[in-house]
Parts: sequence; structure tokens; C-alpha cells
Amino acid sequence: MRLESPSGDVAALNRCGGALAHHMTALGGRVTPIAAPGAGDHLRAEFGTGESQVLVLGHFDTVWPVGQLERMPVRLEDGRLYGPGSFDMKAGIAQALLAVRAIADTHRRRPHRLVMLWTTDEEIGSTTSRGLIESEARRSRAVLVLEPSLPGGALKTARKGVGEFRVRANGIASHAGVDPTRGASAIHELAWQVTRLTELTDPATGVTVNVGLISGGSRSNVVADLAEAVVDVRIPTMADAARVTSAITQLVPRDSRVQIEVSGGIDRPPLERTSQVAALFDLAAVIAADMGRTLAEGATGGGSDGNFTAALGIPTLDGLGAEGDGAHALHEHVLVESLAFRAALVAGLILNVK
Ligand SMILES: [Zn+2]
Repeated sequence: MRLESPSGDVAALNRCGGALAHHMTALGGRVTPIAAPGAGDHLRAEFGTGESQVLVLGHFDTVWPVGQLERMPVRLEDGRLYGPGSFDMKAGIAQALLAVRAIADTHRRRPHRLVMLWTTDEEIGSTTSRGLIESEARRSRAVLVLEPSLPGGALKTARKGVGEFRVRANGIASHAGVDPTRGASAIHELAWQVTRLTELTDPATGVTVNVGLISGGSRSNVVADLAEAVVDVRIPTMADAARVTSAITQLVPRDSRVQIEVSGGIDRPPLERTSQVAALFDLAAVIAADMGRTLAEGATGGGSDGNFTAALGIPTLDGLGAEGDGAHALHEHVLVESLAFRAALVAGLILNVK
């Protein structure tokens, strides 16, 4: 399928979604497109019947613009399938469809109704899909997230939560030469606060605080009245989230004439490795062992829609998608050899979730 689908490009997303809906309908899915302002239609597909539900979750938006295919053509080389969005995460969607087909071929009775939810705005913060993801998750026994695996195929049983804060300093402008003491520099204040912010980073807990953008001032000979920093925050636990949020929102100006305004917050809560998450991983490891494979697990600093479902207390297993490398990078690819095994693993989980 060579249908490019960048986040925010509604026409392209719906072209890709149309083809995906067609495939799911052919597999017996009852497909419902869900309109989302500014994003393409999210797709919900239901397979089978039953009181209980298992949710398969992922996204078909990518970070690549239309036309990227000319720079990154789809090609098969040394067992690797290259192309924009292959690893993150169109191969994961293909695996889920393969799993459904395999289950149908076995004619085994499915213990749960299966719902697939493929969204169109994961790469830009999931603002239009979050409510939908959470309401489907609340109805589910388990959530299987088809995002790419960790290097070597490990599943993701912990993801840091993600936040973004904007720290703005409002000072007093004055002539830097004629009247320096009347001014209160927003830039000097913000520079001091940036140092406080970076001290929140703690390798022992995994908390990271990155001041990624900074702006302010008007000319070199003016004491700046305005400066602003945008800060990325990663937190492994909800307790860290609360602690770091209060530290950032309670920054005290060193120069009392400067006012500090903070906006923003934690956008994605952490996916914590609860006993429920661990139990779901153990089930996956047993299914893999039946196929003669050893399955590993690990943690990542990147967030996904699995963060939302795990934070609701719904058992969530992430990183079930393809093995490969290069998410958001020019060498993005999946290992073709891994696809059948990963699809079988997903099928096994769909059939064996308690
Ligand atoms: Zn992704």
C-alpha cells in the first residue's frame, strides 16, 4: 500500500483510511469511520460478538509529508522493507489484519469481541482521538498496542509520561546604557530559571527536563521585557508528574520585579509497569515460547496512545508491532522475517486474554 498519510493532511489520511476500511470489511469487520475536526476519520472496526472486548490500538498517521515516497521509495533489501511509516506503524496494522485472518482460518471460537481502533492524530498529540481511545479502553479486558517494538523485538511494558510547559518571564524594558537599573531583564531572569529547570532532571529516577526552545528580547541595547522557554518533561510515574509539575508551576522569580507565568502540563500520563501490565507480558512470553521464541520487555521515554489506556488501569501491552528501526528517520524499515511471528503473537493474545 503506497498511500501516504501525514498527520493533519485530511485528504491523504482519508485516502489511506478508505483502503484500510476496505481491507477490514473484507475480513468481516464492521467498520465505522469517526469524523475528527482537522484530522482524518479515525477508524473503528468490530470483529465477532461477545460481551467482553479486547482492543487493538494504533494509528495510521505518519510524520512524513506527501511526496516523501519519492525520497524514501518503498523497497525490499536484505530482508528489510523500507518506506515512510513502515515501522511507525503501518506494519503493525498489517500484522493485526494478518492476525484476524489467521484466527478466522482456525475457526476457533473467539472468547471476546475484538475492536480495532486506528487513529489519525497520534503523531500530533492525539487531541481528537483521546476521548475515543479512553472510552473504548474502558470497555476492554486488555489493550494491545501495535506500535513498533524496541530494538531486538522487545515489548514495551513501561513508557514515560510526557508534558510540555511554557515558561514566560515578563520584565521591564529600559535603555541598557542610559537607564540600566530601571529595567528588569526577562532574559536574565529566564536564564536563571532555566538552570533551576535543568536541575529537575534526575538520572536515578529517569525524570528528564529539556528546555528545547527559548526566545526573547528585541535588541542588544534594550533590557528585555519578555522572554519565553518551552520545556519538554518526561516522567516515569504519576508521583514524579505531580512533583515536577508543582516545581515548574511554582518557580519563584529571583528578581521580584519580573513576573513568571507558566502554562501547559502533562499531556500523556506514564504507562507504568503495574502487575496487570506484567501479567499481560507474561502471557505474551508464554505464547512466544510455544513458538520457540524468547520475548523480552523494556521501557522507553517516548509516549504513545497506550499511555492513556494504561493510566485508566486497563492492562496494556505496547510495542507489539514490527521489528525494525528508524522511526521518524530516513532509514525507517521493518524486518520482513519478523512479521509472521509478530502477527501470530497478536493472534495468540487476542485468543488468550482472560
Ligand atoms: Zn507510532
